Amino acid sequence: MSAPEDHDLADVQFFEIPPMHQLTAEQNSGAACVWCADHLAPGTGVDLQSSIGWAPYSCLACYPIRTAVVSTYRDLYRHWTSCPPCEDAALIGEPLCAEAQTQQTALLRARTAAHKGQPICVSCHEPITQHELEAGAFAPLIWMGYSSPHRGFLHTGACMWHGS
Ligand SMILES: [Zn+2]
Ligand SMILES: [Zn+2]
Ligand SMILES: [Zn+2]
Repeated sequence: MSAPEDHDLADVQFFEIPPMHQLTAEQNSGAACVWCADHLAPGTGVDLQSSIGWAPYSCLACYPIRTAVVSTYRDLYRHWTSCPPCEDAALIGEPLCAEAQTQQTALLRARTAAHKGQPICVSCHEPITQHELEAGAFAPLIWMGYSSPHRGFLHTGACMWHGS
Protein backbone atom coordinates (compact mmCIF):
# COMPACT_ATOMS: atom_id res chain seq x y z
CA MET A 1 0.00 0.00 0.00
CA SER A 2 1.24 3.48 -0.76
CA ALA A 3 -0.45 4.87 2.34
CA PRO A 4 1.54 7.33 4.41
CA GLU A 5 3.09 6.18 7.64
CA ASP A 6 1.21 6.01 10.91
CA HIS A 7 -0.40 9.17 12.19
CA ASP A 8 -0.82 10.03 15.80
CA LEU A 9 -4.19 11.06 17.12
CA ALA A 10 -3.40 14.75 17.05
CA ASP A 11 -2.68 14.62 13.33
CA VAL A 12 -5.66 12.54 12.45
CA GLN A 13 -7.95 14.54 14.69
CA PHE A 14 -7.23 17.45 12.47
CA PHE A 15 -8.67 15.72 9.41
CA GLU A 16 -12.07 15.50 11.05
CA ILE A 17 -12.39 19.29 11.22
CA PRO A 18 -14.28 20.71 8.24
CA PRO A 19 -12.15 22.86 5.95
CA MET A 20 -12.02 26.56 6.72
CA HIS A 21 -14.11 27.54 3.69
CA GLN A 22 -17.04 25.41 4.90
CA LEU A 23 -17.16 27.15 8.26
CA THR A 24 -18.68 30.44 9.32
CA ALA A 25 -16.56 33.35 10.49
CA GLU A 26 -17.65 32.55 14.05
CA GLN A 27 -16.50 28.95 13.68
CA ASN A 28 -13.20 29.94 12.13
CA SER A 29 -12.49 32.33 14.99
CA GLY A 30 -13.29 29.82 17.74
CA ALA A 31 -16.52 31.53 18.85
CA ALA A 32 -18.67 28.59 17.72
CA CYS A 33 -18.22 24.82 17.59
CA VAL A 34 -16.86 23.66 14.22
CA TRP A 35 -19.29 20.71 14.21
CA CYS A 36 -22.61 21.83 15.70
CA ALA A 37 -22.13 25.62 15.38
CA ASP A 38 -23.20 26.19 18.99
CA HIS A 39 -21.92 29.44 20.36
CA LEU A 40 -18.94 29.10 22.70
CA ALA A 41 -18.30 31.57 25.47
CA PRO A 42 -14.61 32.49 25.66
CA GLY A 43 -12.63 29.75 27.38
CA THR A 44 -15.41 27.14 27.34
CA GLY A 45 -14.66 25.04 24.26
CA VAL A 46 -11.87 22.65 23.34
CA ASP A 47 -8.98 24.19 21.42
CA LEU A 48 -8.44 22.00 18.36
CA GLN A 49 -4.91 23.31 18.02
CA SER A 50 -4.87 24.34 14.46
CA SER A 51 -2.36 26.38 12.54
CA ILE A 52 -1.54 30.00 13.15
CA GLY A 53 -4.29 32.33 12.01
CA TRP A 54 -7.03 29.74 12.40
CA ALA A 55 -8.59 28.84 15.74
CA PRO A 56 -11.14 26.03 15.40
CA TYR A 57 -12.84 25.07 18.66
CA SER A 58 -15.23 22.29 19.61
CA CYS A 59 -17.96 22.27 22.20
CA LEU A 60 -17.63 19.77 25.04
CA ALA A 61 -20.44 17.61 23.64
CA CYS A 62 -19.02 17.21 20.13
CA TYR A 63 -15.41 16.68 21.11
CA PRO A 64 -15.61 13.11 22.51
CA ILE A 65 -17.94 12.05 19.69
CA ARG A 66 -15.57 13.32 17.00
CA THR A 67 -12.50 12.07 18.79
CA ALA A 68 -14.04 8.60 18.83
CA VAL A 69 -14.57 8.73 15.06
CA VAL A 70 -10.87 9.37 14.62
CA SER A 71 -9.49 7.10 17.33
CA THR A 72 -11.54 4.08 16.24
CA TYR A 73 -10.38 4.64 12.66
CA ARG A 74 -6.80 4.92 13.85
CA ASP A 75 -7.09 1.66 15.82
CA LEU A 76 -8.48 -0.21 12.83
CA TYR A 77 -5.91 1.34 10.49
CA ARG A 78 -3.01 0.41 12.75
CA HIS A 79 -4.27 -3.13 13.01
CA TRP A 80 -4.98 -3.40 9.31
CA THR A 81 -1.51 -2.26 8.28
CA SER A 82 0.14 -4.79 10.58
CA CYS A 83 -2.08 -7.86 10.13
CA PRO A 84 -1.27 -9.80 6.93
CA PRO A 85 -4.11 -12.30 7.54
CA CYS A 86 -6.59 -9.41 7.38
CA GLU A 87 -5.28 -8.28 4.03
CA ASP A 88 -5.31 -11.83 2.67
CA ALA A 89 -8.92 -12.26 3.76
CA ALA A 90 -9.98 -8.88 2.41
CA LEU A 91 -8.46 -9.54 -1.02
CA ILE A 92 -10.85 -12.45 -1.51
CA GLY A 93 -13.78 -10.67 0.14
CA GLU A 94 -13.69 -12.70 3.34
CA PRO A 95 -14.29 -11.12 6.79
CA LEU A 96 -11.30 -9.62 8.58
CA CYS A 97 -9.87 -11.32 11.69
CA ALA A 98 -11.76 -11.28 14.99
CA GLU A 99 -9.75 -8.40 16.44
CA ALA A 100 -10.38 -6.28 13.35
CA GLN A 101 -14.09 -7.11 13.46
CA THR A 102 -14.27 -5.77 17.01
CA GLN A 103 -12.57 -2.59 15.82
CA GLN A 104 -14.89 -2.31 12.82
CA THR A 105 -17.88 -2.53 15.15
CA ALA A 106 -16.45 0.19 17.41
CA LEU A 107 -15.77 2.37 14.39
CA LEU A 108 -19.31 2.00 13.06
CA ARG A 109 -20.74 2.82 16.49
CA ALA A 110 -18.61 5.97 16.64
CA ARG A 111 -19.61 7.02 13.11
CA THR A 112 -23.28 6.49 13.92
CA ALA A 113 -22.98 8.64 17.05
CA ALA A 114 -21.42 11.38 14.92
CA HIS A 115 -24.18 11.03 12.28
CA LYS A 116 -21.69 10.16 9.58
CA GLY A 117 -23.25 8.92 6.37
CA GLN A 118 -22.13 6.03 4.21
CA PRO A 119 -18.49 6.46 3.21
CA ILE A 120 -17.59 6.46 -0.48
CA CYS A 121 -15.24 3.70 -1.59
CA VAL A 122 -11.87 5.16 -2.58
CA SER A 123 -11.57 2.52 -5.29
CA CYS A 124 -14.95 2.27 -7.07
CA HIS A 125 -16.42 5.61 -5.84
CA GLU A 126 -19.69 3.90 -4.89
CA PRO A 127 -21.06 4.23 -1.34
CA ILE A 128 -20.24 1.46 1.10
CA THR A 129 -23.77 0.52 2.08
CA GLN A 130 -25.04 0.01 5.61
CA HIS A 131 -25.32 -3.70 4.89
CA GLU A 132 -21.71 -3.86 3.70
CA LEU A 133 -20.57 -1.86 6.72
CA GLU A 134 -22.37 -4.14 9.14
CA ALA A 135 -20.96 -7.20 7.35
CA GLY A 136 -17.45 -5.81 7.85
CA ALA A 137 -16.85 -5.75 4.08
CA PHE A 138 -14.65 -2.66 4.23
CA ALA A 139 -11.09 -1.69 5.03
CA PRO A 140 -9.44 1.61 5.91
CA LEU A 141 -7.27 3.42 3.38
CA ILE A 142 -5.50 6.70 4.06
CA TRP A 143 -4.98 8.51 0.79
CA MET A 144 -3.16 11.70 -0.03
CA GLY A 145 -5.25 14.69 -1.04
CA TYR A 146 -3.77 17.84 -2.51
CA SER A 147 -1.97 18.78 0.67
CA SER A 148 -2.95 16.41 3.44
CA PRO A 149 -3.81 12.76 4.04
CA HIS A 150 -7.48 11.77 4.24
CA ARG A 151 -9.10 8.94 6.12
CA GLY A 152 -10.85 6.77 3.58
CA PHE A 153 -12.45 3.38 3.14
CA LEU A 154 -12.72 0.83 0.41
CA HIS A 155 -14.76 -2.29 -0.19
CA THR A 156 -13.04 -5.59 0.40
CA GLY A 157 -12.83 -7.98 -2.54
CA ALA A 158 -12.34 -6.64 -6.06
CA CYS A 159 -12.05 -3.00 -4.97
CA MET A 160 -8.82 -3.89 -3.15
CA TRP A 161 -7.03 -5.09 -6.27
CA HIS A 162 -6.56 -1.62 -7.66
CA GLY A 163 -7.47 0.54 -4.69
CA SER A 164 -4.01 1.51 -3.53
ZN1 LIG B 1 -20.53 21.08 19.06
ZN1 LIG C 1 -6.39 -8.76 11.55
ZN1 LIG D 1 -15.62 -0.19 -3.93
